[in-house]
Amino acid sequence: MPGNRTPMTPQTKLFIGGAFVDALDGATIATLNPHDNSPIADVAEAKAADVDRAVEAAAKAFPAWSAMAAMDRGRLLLKLADAIEADAETLARLESLDTGHPLRDTRGLDVPRTAVTYRYFGGMADKFEGTVVPVEAGFLNYVLREPVGVVGQIVPWNFPLMFTSWKMGPALAAGCTVVLKPSELTPLSTLRIAELMRDVGFPAGVVNIVPGYGATAGQRLVDHPEVRKIAFTGSTAIGRSVVRGSAGNLKKVQLELGGKGANIVFDDANLAAAVNGAAFAIFHNQGQACIAGSRLLLHEKIADEFLDRFLKLARSIRLGDPLAEGTEMGPLTSRMHQQRVLDYCAVAREEGGEILTGGRAPDDPALSKGCYVEPTVVRADPGSRVCREEVFGPFVTVSTFKTDEEALAIANGTEYGLGGGLWTSNLQRAHRFAKAMISGMVWVNCYKRVNPGSPFGGVHASGYGREMGFEAMREYTSPKSIWVNVDAQLPPYYRR
Ligand code: NDP
Repeated sequence: MPGNRTPMTPQTKLFIGGAFVDALDGATIATLNPHDNSPIADVAEAKAADVDRAVEAAAKAFPAWSAMAAMDRGRLLLKLADAIEADAETLARLESLDTGHPLRDTRGLDVPRTAVTYRYFGGMADKFEGTVVPVEAGFLNYVLREPVGVVGQIVPWNFPLMFTSWKMGPALAAGCTVVLKPSELTPLSTLRIAELMRDVGFPAGVVNIVPGYGATAGQRLVDHPEVRKIAFTGSTAIGRSVVRGSAGNLKKVQLELGGKGANIVFDDANLAAAVNGAAFAIFHNQGQACIAGSRLLLHEKIADEFLDRFLKLARSIRLGDPLAEGTEMGPLTSRMHQQRVLDYCAVAREEGGEILTGGRAPDDPALSKGCYVEPTVVRADPGSRVCREEVFGPFVTVSTFKTDEEALAIANGTEYGLGGGLWTSNLQRAHRFAKAMISGMVWVNCYKRVNPGSPFGGVHASGYGREMGFEAMREYTSPKSIWVNVDAQLPPYYRR
């Protein structure tokens, strides 16, 4: 069984071919604690040559892994889920330390959701079936779902543990082997998962973890001719470069990119629930979520009352060390990202937006070395930059509407289409809006619900392809159609 490693002595090496190894050139990258920017550990930095080694290991492991009985692949994923639960406290503390997520979230959401995802795909492995097509008499046509091969997976820094499970769970269940690059900002929980995988008996090379920079390790993975698919989560800009890079060997691409979720509150909504739900939608994980409800659209009749309650709640959120019990909001994950969010506060002011609360780093001297930003609420014009561009922080814009048509036009007025929500007690309006919103996911009287069985992903600039459920299994497999002549008399094509 896995040892109970403390988060202060994390695994720091690359995981290639079943072993933890240094980078070929010995390079390392320091990972920092976003609470005070103190170094946590120096992690091996994969470069192109290390990625090549990892792809080679994954290619070598592929024939046996893809030929293994699906039930046995599933059994390993189920064992991994158990090992994650046994290791929950270590994983939660490691994730909080590296990302800045408050412990109450890593304990209550990230770790349990990670275990549940591996368990779901462990159960899925031997239930994802091919089909038989009812073709003309005399022929049998059946369709196999074959694993695509070695897949490259690129995971960002906002939910490393969870996103890794969303990507590796279906890939492994489907019979693919994996080379995964975590963000260099937050590699520690992924390396811990690699230790657990080794300990529960995943064969060498089935999973390889190569922390490193996007421009070097990430790019090599995208360009590699033996990688048959890239699954990428991150910004729309890098998503576009992944598509360009995939042209070399025409690899499959799956993109989970940004969002600018509209969260619409109608005048018949349960306001107490909407206020709480809207705060969770934007302030959970400091707003660093592609599905964050970052645009609040309020019916003008309830706008004042809603805002009054919402601002009180936003101002009362307890910021602090993510590892301290009782902290409700931690720091952003990096100094660079903190600055990016503060820059958007400046943009809001320049555009004539009204900062109703927040808009700055907190005064508290205990937080001064960290990457904190206060919960920020900005009244802004729906056409302004802060209402169109993804800020990816605890930053929500507020605008008002008079009619349903106006609300829908504002909601659909960005290039993104990932997630959105609405709060209403009118059943017809709920369904009408759910259908009309340009979005991969819609939440009615709730926000940011996810489940391993429910497809997750977006449209337009939010990307394509889906994580989770049967959709994810389709993403990691290719259909192969097989025709068998069982008793058909074939007329001669060439009559001689
Ligand atoms: P990026 O898109 O740059 O990074 C996401 C991942 O892609 C990281 O692992 C990164 O590595 C990697 N990467 C970067 N360049 C390449 C490349 N050329 N080839 C392959 N992989 C690459 O996002 P940022 O971290 O710069 O964040 C910027 C903005 O992106 C955020 O403010 C937010 O708007 C959006 N974003 C959206 C996310 C989502 O969940 N959809 C997640 C993260 C960001 P490295 O860390 O080394 O750069």
